[in-house]
Amino acid sequence: MSARIVVVGSMNMDLITRTPRIPLPGETIIGHEYLTAPGGKGANQAVAAARMGAQVDMVGRVGQDAFGEELLANLTASDVQHATVVRDGQAATGVALILVDDAGENSIVVASGANARVSADDVDAAGAAIAEADALLLQLEIPIETVTHAAALARAHGVKVILNPAPARPTPPHLLTLVDILIPNEHETALLASMQVNSDADAEAAAAKLLQSGPQAVILTLGGRGALLATAEGMTRIPAFPVTPVDTTAAGDSFVAGFSVALAEGKSLQEAVRWGSAAGALATTKLGAQPSIPYREEVMKLME
Ligand code: ADP
Repeated sequence: MSARIVVVGSMNMDLITRTPRIPLPGETIIGHEYLTAPGGKGANQAVAAARMGAQVDMVGRVGQDAFGEELLANLTASDVQHATVVRDGQAATGVALILVDDAGENSIVVASGANARVSADDVDAAGAAIAEADALLLQLEIPIETVTHAAALARAHGVKVILNPAPARPTPPHLLTLVDILIPNEHETALLASMQVNSDADAEAAAAKLLQSGPQAVILTLGGRGALLATAEGMTRIPAFPVTPVDTTAAGDSFVAGFSVALAEGKSLQEAVRWGSAAGALATTKLGAQPSIPYREEVMKLME
């Protein structure tokens, strides 16, 4: 039986334009090509969990517009169930306006739209799916009160709560007491632990500090340097799989999903971190967000 995962989180349409350079204020320039791609950390992690073989329910909001329609069609195509995604008549579908210049630098504006209106009621409407899930997967691209409500509901049903605290933003201490496993990257770790993370010693100190805020396990993702697993038993370094990175977009989302599916299937924390590392490594070998998210077979093959 496949693991059951519920994701409560964001759904965006990424509007990407390549441009010779980022325009100055007030300036208009002619860019290169334009493309749209489904995104949002919530939807990315839902798609990634489905590709890892889990049965996935998405909880979120899109507008009653064409992008909303496309994002739902994308979930359908990715085998993510979305009966619990609300079509909001009051807000537009979330978009990320992304400019990428010829030097590879980007600048991004996210207009959250309907994501900012994902509510506790939306979570309650998905209560049955959450109660039956093996794990609940959360990020911070929707209101923190909603994230906290979802974590509390899952906790009340004995469902594992996994928080990827991205993008980095201040998090109420109460939320961390409701989280079983916290998975921040270096930047998010620095913000949550209120300290600089410049060395391995810093990473261990920050992980120890975050562990005291409530979670049973803290997993720091350290890009090409791998991951650090911290529990009451101690610290374990899990090296990165050697790959040739092309674009690190969605490495974090793939890691979180790979880890979560393994854990939901009953694997140990260490083994689950290996799954996450393999999924994250594979995501760096292809361009884009969702196109680069690996399938279970690829992850198994890399781990052999
Ligand atoms: P984020 O994308 O959220 O910043 P990271 O950059 O820490 O997250 O990447 C998440 C995980 O993906 C890492 O812990 C690692 O396992 C894997 N990963 C990322 N970059 C590389 C890389 N260059 N080589 C191999 N694995 C990588």
